[in-house]
Amino acid sequence: MNIVWFKRDLRLEDNKILLEASHDGPILPLYIIEKELWLQPDLTGRHYNFLKQCLDELDQSLRNYGGKLIIRVGDAVQILAELKDKHSSIKLYSHQETWNGWTFSRDAQVRAWARKTNVHWIEKAQHGVVRGLSSRNGWSAKWYSSMNKPASQKPTHIEFVNERADLIPTNSELKLDDDELYQAPKGGRREAKKLLNSFLNSRGEKYRSEMSSPLTAIDSCSRLSPHIAFGTISIKEIYHSTTNRLQDLKDNSTHPAKDWIQSLKSFSSRLRWHCHFIQKLESEPEIEFRNMNSCYDGLREHCFNRIYFEAWKSGHTGYPMIDACMRFLTATGWLNFRMRALLISFSSQHLWLHWREPSLHLAGLFTDYEPGIHYSQTQMQSGTTGINTIRIYNPIKQGLDQDPTGTFVRQWVPELENIDPDFIHTPWLSPSKPKGYPPPIVDEKTSRQKASKKLYAVKRKPEHKEIATEVYIKHGSRKGKQTTKGTRISLKNKLQGELNF
Ligand SMILES: Cc1cc2nc3c(=O)[nH]c(=O)nc-3n(C[C@H](O)[C@H](O)[C@H](O)COP(=O)(O)OP(=O)(O)OC[C@H]3O[C@@H](n4cnc5c(N)ncnc54)[C@H](O)[C@@H]3O)c2cc1C
Repeated sequence: MNIVWFKRDLRLEDNKILLEASHDGPILPLYIIEKELWLQPDLTGRHYNFLKQCLDELDQSLRNYGGKLIIRVGDAVQILAELKDKHSSIKLYSHQETWNGWTFSRDAQVRAWARKTNVHWIEKAQHGVVRGLSSRNGWSAKWYSSMNKPASQKPTHIEFVNERADLIPTNSELKLDDDELYQAPKGGRREAKKLLNSFLNSRGEKYRSEMSSPLTAIDSCSRLSPHIAFGTISIKEIYHSTTNRLQDLKDNSTHPAKDWIQSLKSFSSRLRWHCHFIQKLESEPEIEFRNMNSCYDGLREHCFNRIYFEAWKSGHTGYPMIDACMRFLTATGWLNFRMRALLISFSSQHLWLHWREPSLHLAGLFTDYEPGIHYSQTQMQSGTTGINTIRIYNPIKQGLDQDPTGTFVRQWVPELENIDPDFIHTPWLSPSKPKGYPPPIVDEKTSRQKASKKLYAVKRKPEHKEIATEVYIKHGSRKGKQTTKGTRISLKNKLQGELNF
């Protein structure tokens, strides 16, 4: 009997483990709701609400095959051990999971149990993340080669093993808030396909030019991220659909569709970025907790200002674009890339908060929380990788660039509804001070310059170049098949150039 342990792959299509297991014999499709996982500080009710919808639809799809999804609530090792006792000979199938520290240690426990009890655990890569990667050289080529292979077929027939199932716990049984969202994203494969279809055929034309403003990004971005995170659709399926659509656009010579082509090329690259960032956490799980580059250790650890943190979390920093973004994210569970970067850049640089607590707060707010992307991006925007250009976003400039008329700010910060348009991003300069809205929590220019000075001081340390080179060799994106020696030399030159600049 084959247990198909669904994790972050809640679909029947392009699901290699399901296909293989059902070819191999009768299956037990299992999803384990782990109470302890849901107590972790990065998880919230909004993740659970989305998950429940995905499970419901997965169950319906399995029922079309004459079976059902067996939901069990509890500890993974105990549940698997109980199933083994009952069914004696079992094989365990699942996709490799590169997720948070808790799931990493749970998998280590399952691995130890499987070894001890002679259970064969067949784990396969999902997407393009490579387990046990020995070198980053040629990673992109491997990604394309894997993506260009055909997607797995849906099984034609499944033989099921019957088992008892538990009821899905309520949010409060898992100590989670109800966390109802404004225009909440819908879980399940049907919605993922709908989003992909509308993005590729109507919403995505101006993706490239409209992704940075929260006003336009809401429609022009694909909004597929929670579906990718829970696996209702695979990266490969999205990549194939995008490639086919691009080909159609290119073949249609009567209508050149320049915007479409540029937009879909940008989108397609981001599918690779998804795996590129998760690869970092796969190769070094510790970056969830500590700086990617140890030269930055000690920089912010001992000066965490709770008053600043609370103001940032609640959207009361006095910077309208920061506050609007935080309130929008809290209400909806989604935010576009640039505004995510703005939020974490502001907390790490202007407020000089260590990134760990702010990143946990954002993790709880993003319905699409994906630790591999999340912590790598957080560290990049906080300047703790040492391999990326130090970029400190100016919240006033971002407001003027991305919301010039203040439409977004007025919607999410009603205290500023009636302010003179000239002062929408600098209300403290307005002759009529807005009621109920705080003055800026820090001076923008002074705090930005202070942060920049501190970060560049670390970058100038003699040991920085050596450590950054090692970080780059382990995690850096690079084209072609460079040798590690070549990589070292070119990076040292690049870092030198940045410091001279
Ligand atoms: C501080 C910070 C934290 C982030 N945390 C997450 C997270 O927890 N989960 C998450 O999915 N994304 C995260 N991102 C990346 C990005 O903001 C989101 O993927 C994107 O906004 C999701 O919306 P979308 O699906 O409409 O994206 P689209 O622009 O339509 O892109 C399609 C897909 O490509 C991938 N992608 C897009 N941009 C990036 C990127 N910059 N890096 C890696 N992959 C990308 C995602 O899988 C995304 O769903 C984070 C970015 C920052 C700056």
